[in-house]
Amino acid sequence: MAQAASASASVATTVADAATDLDPAAIRRDFPLLVAHPELIYLDSAATAQKPQAVLDALLDFYTHHNANVHRGAYTLAADATLAYEAARGRIARFVGARDAAEVVFTRGTTEALNLVAGAWGPANVSAGDTIVVTEMEHHSNLVPWHLLAARTGCRLRVVPITPDGRLDLDGLDALVDETVKLISVVHISNAVGTVNPVADIVAAARRVGAKVLLDAAQSVPHRKVDVAALGVDFLAASGHKMLGPMGIGFLWARASILADMPPWQGGGEMIRRVTPTDSTYADPPQRFEAGTPSVADAVALAAAADYLDRLGLDACAAHDASLVAYALERLGDAPGVRIAGPLDAPSRCGSVAFTVDGVHAHDLATLLDGDGLCVRAGHHCTMPLHTRLGLAATARASFQVYNGTADIDALVAGIARARGVFGV
Ligand code: PMP
Repeated sequence: MAQAASASASVATTVADAATDLDPAAIRRDFPLLVAHPELIYLDSAATAQKPQAVLDALLDFYTHHNANVHRGAYTLAADATLAYEAARGRIARFVGARDAAEVVFTRGTTEALNLVAGAWGPANVSAGDTIVVTEMEHHSNLVPWHLLAARTGCRLRVVPITPDGRLDLDGLDALVDETVKLISVVHISNAVGTVNPVADIVAAARRVGAKVLLDAAQSVPHRKVDVAALGVDFLAASGHKMLGPMGIGFLWARASILADMPPWQGGGEMIRRVTPTDSTYADPPQRFEAGTPSVADAVALAAAADYLDRLGLDACAAHDASLVAYALERLGDAPGVRIAGPLDAPSRCGSVAFTVDGVHAHDLATLLDGDGLCVRAGHHCTMPLHTRLGLAATARASFQVYNGTADIDALVAGIARARGVFGV
């Protein structure tokens, strides 16, 4: 059914897809799950992206030819595994423009990277009377760790509000960011409404009072070139699985000088220099923050994902995404009963379009669309404060990756019309 909808919109597809250098139909052939399930129209890459063959190959190759624990083996296989793991760290450092591979700490994902900063940097640098600034747009994983830090240290949280169209309201930023502020922790691109935030303005406000800036780049790293030096932030957190890599691997980038002064977070093997029964000293970064056996194969496969994205070209990926977002805003904007959440101008957003349909609950919509092979997410997308502020209990969200084309959006619009028919609205 969805395929028929795609075919009927082939003219629009050709025109809009021609605007970018990427050929989503060809790219789709690189993704085994999408090849095995040709009926699927996967529009949930903001939750997790599908994986190209190159990433699956890297996982299989590691376990077939290189599997050994890292950093402790005297034998060749273990040395090879260590080399592969550290090469992956270097690859991710280059991917985000870091000066030094030692500035990259592998984590399970964005959530763990944020908890690492809140759990290790937080208590060492923040105390009662200090302030952490967050925004109303944050994913829960960039709120709850700060709630925990506040409970532990007595620091306060201040919140940058959002406008009715889902942008940060920065009018009061200067008043909000006073000398008590130690950190501004902000999302680069909203996972809920796709807003691209003005990082330079936030960094400028932080610099005026000597505060640090943490960027939650979970939704930006998968779509565009993210360069930590150009952004001027102090910490950056991201997840591998959203940038075509495996689940269970992600990273924290932080300035070398900050990592050097940070106490450990978790204790265990690998992160020590010397241990006695009653005391221990700690390794230098990044090992200091990687207690226990790391996800070596996943790190290696994450590097393969970075290679894949770089082969496509991140500028081409960004242009492709921009054309899909513009097309989705146009088609959904014209669709009866559909209300788009977040900014309505395409350049202000990236990666996704969230919306409601009058008379159809987002969860019912997602279930009905599933019958057409369409995968969209429904709910609050782990952004309850944002949804509360916008007066929305739930939204449906279509999110894009390099394997999506405009035909997928045509199929979505046709599916929404069918869903409205089922509900008689
Ligand atoms: N921040 C943002 C903006 C996200 O989109 C997500 C994932 N939805 C996270 C943080 C958490 O990422 P993970 O679940 O991979 O740790």
